[in-house]
Amino acid sequence: MADETPGQSATIIDGTAIAARVRASIARRTAILKAEFDLTPTLAVVLVGDDPASKIYVGMKTKRAAEVGMKARDIDMAASAAQGQLIGVIEELNADKDVQAILVQMPLPDQIDSDEVIDVLDPAKDVDGLHVINAGLLVSGRVGVVPATPLGCLALIKSVTQDLKGLEALIVGRSNLVGKPIAQLLLREHCTVTTAHSRTQDLDAVCRRADILIAAVGQPEMIRGDWIKPGAIVIDVGINRLDPEQGQEKGRLVGDVHFAEATQVAGAITPVPKGVGPMTIACLLQNTLALACRNTGVPMPKDPEAE
Ligand code: NDP
Repeated sequence: MADETPGQSATIIDGTAIAARVRASIARRTAILKAEFDLTPTLAVVLVGDDPASKIYVGMKTKRAAEVGMKARDIDMAASAAQGQLIGVIEELNADKDVQAILVQMPLPDQIDSDEVIDVLDPAKDVDGLHVINAGLLVSGRVGVVPATPLGCLALIKSVTQDLKGLEALIVGRSNLVGKPIAQLLLREHCTVTTAHSRTQDLDAVCRRADILIAAVGQPEMIRGDWIKPGAIVIDVGINRLDPEQGQEKGRLVGDVHFAEATQVAGAITPVPKGVGPMTIACLLQNTLALACRNTGVPMPKDPEAE
C-alpha cells in the first residue's frame, strides 16, 4: 500500500497508486451497471465563475469520471450569476432523472449565499455530503453521503493500519467539507478525537500527542517536524501554492505540513501533491456510483476482481 523512500524514516503513502486501484474497481462496477441495467452514472458539476484552482479541480473531476465510464455534465455559470439563477439550475438538476449526483464547486462568489444553495440540493443527490441531512446522518452514525476528502483520508490511514481503536487523532481544521466530517469518521473508528482550529492554544503541544495527525488548514508548511509524535500517521490535506511575492519558491505546491522535516519523524505520511488529492477524486466517483445505484434502485455491483 505504501512505498519506503530511502533516507527518510517515514513511509510515504502513495495516494496516486491507491486512488488508481479505487478508480479501476469503480470502472469495473460501472461497466456492470451499463451492461446489466443500462445505467450510466451521471454526475453534474456546477462551476460558478472562473477561479483558476476551481477550474482545474472541476476539469480533473470530469476527466476522471469519463475515464471510469461515467457521464459528467459540466454546467459553467458566469462569475456574476445571481443566487436565483444558481438555485434554478440546481432545482432543474434535482428534478432530472438522468442525473444521480450533483456537485456545486466551492467556494462560490461573494454574492451567493452558499448555505442557501446547499439547502436547495436534493440530499439524495448531494455527492459532496454537504447538506444538513447528510451532515446529521454522519454525526448520528447513520448512512448518508460522506464528503469525499474525509473518505479518502480514512482510506489512506487504513492503508497503513486497519485497527484505529483507541488511537489519539487530531484534526487541525474544522470546515464542514473536511475537518468536521473527518472527526466523525475517526470517532466511528473508536479513535479519541480532538479538533483544533485557529483559536487552539499551544497547537504544537496538542499535535505532539497525536497518533494520527490530519492537517486541513490551508497554511503552507505550518506543521513542523518537531510538532509530530515519533511514528505518527500524518495526512496532509492542504494544497497551497507558494507565492514568490512573499519570498517563497515560485509556484511550488506544498501541504500544511513541512514535508522534509515531518518525514524524519512520522511513521507514515502523505505527500502533496500525490496524496489526498487523487483520493478525493476517487472517493467522489465512489459516491457517484453509490448514488447512481441508490437513486435508481439498482443493487451496487460487486467488483469481479475484489479479493
Ligand atoms: P477552510 O478555510 O474552510 O478551513 C480551514 C480551517 O483551518 C479552519 O477551521 C481554520 O480555523 C483552521 N485554521 C486556519 N489557520 C489556522 C492556524 N493558524 N492554526 C490552526 N488552525 C487554523 O479550509 P478547507 O477545510 O476547505 O481546506 C483546508 C485545506 O485543504 C486547504 O488548503 C484546501 O485547499 C485543502 N483541500 C484539499 C483537498 C484535497 O482534495 N486535497 C480538498 C479540500 C480542501 P477557524 O475555523 O478557527 O477559522
